[in-house]
Amino acid sequence: MLNLVLFGPPGAGKGTQSEKLIEKYNLVHISTGDLFRAHIKNQTELGKQVSSLIADGQLVPDSITIAMLEKEIEKNPTAKGFIFDGFPRTVAQAEALDKFLESIGTSISGVVALDVDEAELTKRIAERKKISNRADDDADKLQKRIAEYFNKTIHVLPYYEQQGKLAKVNGIGDIDTIFNNISKEIDSF
Ligand code: ADP
Repeated sequence: MLNLVLFGPPGAGKGTQSEKLIEKYNLVHISTGDLFRAHIKNQTELGKQVSSLIADGQLVPDSITIAMLEKEIEKNPTAKGFIFDGFPRTVAQAEALDKFLESIGTSISGVVALDVDEAELTKRIAERKKISNRADDDADKLQKRIAEYFNKTIHVLPYYEQQGKLAKVNGIGDIDTIFNNISKEIDSF
């Protein structure tokens, strides 16, 4: 199996690149952000539990996120591989993912981290806000999400670096160039 983590701060372009990658590598895309938004839209129990946290720009607790993620993997028993987008966002999530994949006889092949500076992120999300209608794209909530990233999520990078699985790619430039650079890294995993 080819199991990839696409890593990066809010607005780094994970969703855009994931769409292209699933097509090229025939992978199942699991975005925890998209899954949460679907739960909120469908007003499920889980959606009700997490909606205020998400609207406020905070991370959802690990236990809830990990359980949802594992269920999603189990829904795709014939997948050739997965691309994880927006997960793991904490070291506890990364450890849980490794454990779970091991239990089903597979592992993370590699992690691509998209590198984008904070000024560019703020600019991109302000643009996205015009069409996204996401409450968490409001400026104050966005600052909180970026803070969550730099406080909690960034520690996931050394976790994978120690395993020799981390590749950094410049996330600024045109979409196809970034895509080609990501693909090169994946082909070397
Ligand atoms: P972004 O566009 O900021 O990268 P996502 O669409 O991936 O955001 O996620 C939106 C929100 O959903 C996050 O701000 C957080 O509240 C919640 N969320 C998504 N993935 C996770 C996760 N792995 N752990 C905890 N919370 C998560």
